Amino acid sequence: MVIGHPSQDFSLKGKFPFWVIFATHGLGILSPLWRFRLDDSHRQIPGSLLMSTEILAGIVPTTYWHSLDDGRLQCDLCPRFCRLQEGQRGMCFVRARQDNQVVLTTYGRSSGFCVDPIEKKPLNHFLPGTAILSFGTAGCNLACKFCQNWDMSKSREMDILAAEASPEAIARTAQKFECRSVAYTYNDPVIFHEYAIDVAQACRELGIKSVAVTAGYVCDEPRVEFYRYMDAANVDLKAFTERFYHSLTGSHLEPVLETLVYLKHHTRVWFEITTLLIPGENDSEGELEELTQWVVETLGPDIPIHFTAFHPDWKMLDKSPTPFSTVTRARRIALKNGIRYAYTGNVHDEPGGSTSCHGCGNTLIGRDWHVLTAWNLTEEGHCRFCGIPCVGLFEKEPGNWGAKRLPIRP
Ligand code: SF4
Repeated sequence: MVIGHPSQDFSLKGKFPFWVIFATHGLGILSPLWRFRLDDSHRQIPGSLLMSTEILAGIVPTTYWHSLDDGRLQCDLCPRFCRLQEGQRGMCFVRARQDNQVVLTTYGRSSGFCVDPIEKKPLNHFLPGTAILSFGTAGCNLACKFCQNWDMSKSREMDILAAEASPEAIARTAQKFECRSVAYTYNDPVIFHEYAIDVAQACRELGIKSVAVTAGYVCDEPRVEFYRYMDAANVDLKAFTERFYHSLTGSHLEPVLETLVYLKHHTRVWFEITTLLIPGENDSEGELEELTQWVVETLGPDIPIHFTAFHPDWKMLDKSPTPFSTVTRARRIALKNGIRYAYTGNVHDEPGGSTSCHGCGNTLIGRDWHVLTAWNLTEEGHCRFCGIPCVGLFEKEPGNWGAKRLPIRP
């Protein structure tokens, strides 16, 4: 059963020509060595993730920026609105001003590829049990002190971008490993907008779906373009206070809420929400009440929400790991407030990780960590016991990828 279809609009508004500029080392001031037109022969290398071996740091023009009266260029991709002098990089580090335009410096480069269970994204209502090809780049437009992926997202070095991959090669690799979808993850795909969209287009041509794992911190216009190519998303709702967003992420809550509202009311993208619970920061009963009530009232009861446990990392080493009781309490509050599909994550909790029917309460999809242990959906995606539909995208049978993680080296 399918509820939440991707848009079928394949046009790419304002698509730029693929002029690629090489950088010397990708660090500091961008120094082009030479330029050439990136044609199909460079972008299609059968049986390999590799692009042309010459493409070591793909720099492409971008469209979401404008000139200011004082001579700076303002990037309009995300609500940070970085204002750049020639040679400067934005806060995300991967977008920069070069030759009087704002460019993306990491087109076609990745920090690595891995075939994962889709439940790891986490997505519990989108092709359960199937394999997903995950990749990311470097940098991030948020500054989360608790970042759980800081080695990639906080990287100021291009050295981690060890893998070069064309969009077509990524799509073919996903097909080769029988992945039903590709995840734009590890760092936020918002900042590699142009690359993500091209990968998503190449995937669509092969019938492979695209999943954005994102903080949802993006401006209106690029948001519309980006989600035209995505089939599903997991959006972090990191907290429900501006204090948390401002002091612990360096961003703002409102644009994230706008992304969630946009996804629900203006697209057919399937999405789920994740909230990482940090002791003493965003786990109070009052905040969880407010957050879950807002989700139900604004997005409806069918949007799944995952409450995941934090472990001390990056610049937040002084906090304890989230107790098991905190994530289970959050789940109980969500269910009490009418959210039909509330999950725990990063803890061993079979009931909290399983999908129950909101009609009769029976288990629809049992999960032990990322392994499916029960499947009680009909071919139409209805409860086998009472017939009530379960929302999401389900195939007639669950996938059988299991909990395996398979790193892929190009
Ligand atoms: S995408 Fe990067 S350069 Fe653009 S505004 Fe956001 S942080 Fe700044």
